[in-house]
Amino acid sequence: MQKTFQVGAKTFVLDQSKAEAAFAAKKVINGRETMTFNLLPLKYQWAYDLYRTMKANHWEPEDIPMGKDIEQWRDEKALSDVERWIIRMGIGYFSAAEGIVGDNVQHVVRELVTAPELKLVLGRHAHEENIHADSLLYMISSLGINPHECEAMFEDVPTIVGKNEFVTRISKDLRRDLDLTLSENKRLLAKNIFVFGQCMEGTQFYGLFGMILSLYRQNKFPGIGQMFRYTLRDESNHIEVFRNLFMDLVEENRDIWTAEFKEELRETMAEAVQLEKEFIRDCLPVNAVGLSLEDFLTYIDYIADRRLEGCGLAPLSSGAIKNPLPWLAEMMDIKKEQNFFEGRVTEYQKASSLNQASDDEL
Ligand code: FE
Ligand code: MN
Repeated sequence: MQKTFQVGAKTFVLDQSKAEAAFAAKKVINGRETMTFNLLPLKYQWAYDLYRTMKANHWEPEDIPMGKDIEQWRDEKALSDVERWIIRMGIGYFSAAEGIVGDNVQHVVRELVTAPELKLVLGRHAHEENIHADSLLYMISSLGINPHECEAMFEDVPTIVGKNEFVTRISKDLRRDLDLTLSENKRLLAKNIFVFGQCMEGTQFYGLFGMILSLYRQNKFPGIGQMFRYTLRDESNHIEVFRNLFMDLVEENRDIWTAEFKEELRETMAEAVQLEKEFIRDCLPVNAVGLSLEDFLTYIDYIADRRLEGCGLAPLSSGAIKNPLPWLAEMMDIKKEQNFFEGRVTEYQKASSLNQASDDEL
């Protein structure tokens, strides 16, 4: 169908069938390559919806007061050695992990997908990893931790090294020219998306989320706890972005979805769970008040099975595991609270219309 526009002496003919063909060529991978970044018409509505949700959750680390945390950190008697160690492990692990995730989003996944709305949400995802990395910098400088100790942790604590290598391996595999029409290469990408979204952000982040937020529930490290709550809320969206991406990739490329590949993914999750449990044992070498090692280990089994099921894969455990930390999900539900921060979020959202508003007042 052609539509003609007559503007002055000029005539423009727009061909709608070409536009329809362009839409049909929108795909997760091997779609139409274009530099025009034309989002419309949307094919992956979920990507745009998640982009908007993520944007509405915007936060900045320096808006969170750290006074109480600093006071507790300096007070010899306020905290046990285990509690201090959990904070160090949290800062040490996440300082590396947030950067690794952001780097993989930018240099692997966002590079290889072709539909603009997928690139849009992945751009926001990468930016949120920058905010998370920045929040760790803010925690480190507030508590006065030597920045070199942080780098040392991801080189010298073997369970941190193990978790990091598990993900960087699959990221490196994709940093070369790949022919994505081959099933084996499509599987590499699908596995990368599964590992980062479901195994790492979806499972291996949750041991420390649980421990740090357990401390927060006991009024220890309120500032750090608040930042981790916002991070957890962001991560839940990242897990959804990668889960949808994974499902659509599989949907459009049925050749990769073999029994063998499904089993490979389940085994990969089992490895992730193993690494996380060893890491949790390092974070919590002795039981402390309100922190039960068994609960955190069980929680990892519980959450890993939820992630597998979310991707259409069979769980690892035969029996149904009960969630030992039901309060953790509530921690994410920040909207219920009327705290100082909600006002800030509203301000971020309104910022774009500020100029207009002040003009109106004058
Ligand atoms: Fe993050
Ligand atoms: Mn993330």
